[in-house]
Formats: sequence, structure tokens, C-alpha cells
Amino acid sequence: MSPSHKLCMIPGPIEFHEDVLQAMATPATSHVAPNFIPALGESIELLRKVLFTSGQPFIIAGSGTLGWDMTACNLVEAGDDVLVCNSGYFGDRFGECLETYGAKVTHLRVPIGESPQLAAVAAALKSKKFKAITITHVDTSTGVLSDIKGIAEVVKAESPETLVVVDGVCSVGSEEIRMDAWGIDVVVTASQKALGAPPGLCVMGVSERAIGVFKNRKTPVPNYYANWNRWLPIMNAYEARKPSYFATPAVQNIFALNVSLKQIVAQGIEKRFALHKEASAKAKKVIHDLGLKLVPTSLDHAANGMSAVYYPEGIAATDLLPKLAAHGIVAAGGLHVEIAPKYFRIGHMGISVTEPERGHLDATLNALKASLAECGYKGAL
Ligand code: PMP
Repeated sequence: MSPSHKLCMIPGPIEFHEDVLQAMATPATSHVAPNFIPALGESIELLRKVLFTSGQPFIIAGSGTLGWDMTACNLVEAGDDVLVCNSGYFGDRFGECLETYGAKVTHLRVPIGESPQLAAVAAALKSKKFKAITITHVDTSTGVLSDIKGIAEVVKAESPETLVVVDGVCSVGSEEIRMDAWGIDVVVTASQKALGAPPGLCVMGVSERAIGVFKNRKTPVPNYYANWNRWLPIMNAYEARKPSYFATPAVQNIFALNVSLKQIVAQGIEKRFALHKEASAKAKKVIHDLGLKLVPTSLDHAANGMSAVYYPEGIAATDLLPKLAAHGIVAAGGLHVEIAPKYFRIGHMGISVTEPERGHLDATLNALKASLAECGYKGAL
């Protein structure tokens, strides 16, 4: 690693393992080469383990946003009602994407820092028939963790036909998700967060039930690239270790994801959940001891893979973030439009927490203390 490299401690992209980086440096390889086919085929199988599902994974060149398009254009038909549990910026954006395909979106908004309440979800589901409900598992703009298990239970009780869609871009690999056991139909994610690979891949898990809904749709899929009719045969072929082609897969990104997924499964997913909880508790304790306030209003619904923190009185982004960078730490500014200049975000996902011996989190928290002191902050240390 270059000595000038600053630790990328934002809520994605995250730091990569050396073996993941190495996988990106493979020579030009055909997308139907005998060494590439099993890398994609095995990644599809590994993803089922990571998501605890027997459903259909998709790994497609793109980013998390493509997962929204895939959900909206394949599962929703123009005029369908969709309920968006909106805990920040990414709920607004997912809603916009759904509307692009003609969905009638109802936002169930919560105040900044809160997570959607089960009773409010139940009441909304009683008001009309929704084709799908979307939940941002961790809204990266607020660091709020939503109770996807509880919400899926409410859906099952109130409106069992409604598809449960989870935006897990900032949660897969860092927060507990059990797709089949919890009754989740779609998980959308991307390669660059807790899955520990570079940006470039849209990664999804789709339940058999949702694939059935897709196959029974009445209108054609209003999208070319994102159409599952084109991608299902490709995913099936690679899983059967057979070459196939619709659009060129991102060969090196998939090599890298394959290495990372193997590491995740080898370490054990339960252990991974526990390590993210531990790292988060450590970060949140330091933040609390420094006298700083989190954006989430309670630790009960604060994400384990990131922390969103208000600046103390008198300190601004322009003061703190460059000081952190001078200490070798890249943190992120605010994203939620209503409070953007008032808070910053730190990511604690992937190798930075699953290999604590690397010292990434300690270095970040120490840099935070030092930088605040340099800003003139007198808070408790
Ligand atoms: N949803 C959430 C919760 C996200 O954090 C992000 C990215 N930060 C996205 C969706 C969009 O993903 P991408 O930037 O990979 O397109």
C-alpha cells in the first residue's frame, strides 16, 4: 500500500484486503474463459450463503442504484402502489426511481434520526394494497438502522402478498440479514461497502416468490439492460459453469468480489455480524465520551457499519475533515439535505473491523480526538 494512502473510512467505498486488490490486477481475461466462469458461478453460490437465501442472486456490472432500477422495472408495473419506508436521502431517491417506472409511491417518512415504527407501517399497509414495500436497511445519510425483521413480520400479518424489498447497499456484510427466515423478497446491494470489493457491481438476492411475481407480470419490462429476462439465463448458465453472453461482465470486479466473498464465508458470517457490533459499540462509546451526539436518536436503531455524528458547537466540516485527512483518515461529510453541514460520517465496515489488528478503527478514533482538539474543542476526552 502506498505510504501516501489515507485510510478510506467513509461508509463506502471501504478499505480492500490486499488479496482483493490483487484480484483486480489480473491480466485481460475473456468473460467466457475457463478461469472466469467459475469465479462468477461460485460468487452466485457464496452470495446465497451471505444472504441466507435459496433465492436467485444477481451480480451485474453497475452500482447499487442499478438494483433500484432492477427492482422497479422487473417487479413493479405502471400504476402499482409501493410503500417506501423513508429514513433519509436514500428513501427519497429509491422513491424517485420507482416513480420513473410509473409506480405510485407513498412515502412513510420519519423525523431525521428516527427509524420507521412498526405500528405506522401496519397502519399504512391497512390503507391500501401495496405491490411492494421498500425499506432502507441502513440509510447512509443518517446512519439509521431499520428493523427489517420486524417490518417483514408486520407485512406478513397485514398484507402477505406485498413484496418486501430491502435496500441493503449499506448493510449487507455488516448488519444481520436472513432473507428466507425473515420473509424478505429482495435485497439490493453493491460491491463497494461491507462486501469489501471495489465499486462496479450491483449485487442482489431475489426470492423465488418475487421471481414468480416477475414471471407473471402483465406488461413488458420497460428497460433493456436491467431486464431480468435477459439476466436470469446468464446467472443460471454461469452457475452451471457454462459460458453465456448478454452484456460483458466486469471480469476483474467479479474476480475481486469472489475473493472477498470467500473471505467473508471463511471467517463466518455470524462472527462478522458480532465483530461489526463490537466495533460500532467501541466507536459510539468514544463519540459519546467526547460529548458528541449521533444523528440516530437511539443506539437501538443506530447502524453497526457506520456512525453519523453532529459536529460540536462552533466546529464545521471545513475545520474537521481536512484535519482528519492530515492525520491520514478520510471521513465523509453530511448528505441529508436538511442537516448536511451539521454532521459527518465515519464508516466502520469490512476489513477495518473484521481484522482489528490492522488498527484502522483505533487510528480513526485517535485522529478524531486529535483533530477535535486541534479545532479548539474542549470536550471531554
Ligand atoms: N442505497 C444506499 C443506502 C446507499 O448508501 C447507496 C450509496 N451510498 C445507494 C443506495 C446507491 O448505491 P450506489 O452509489 O452504489 O449506486
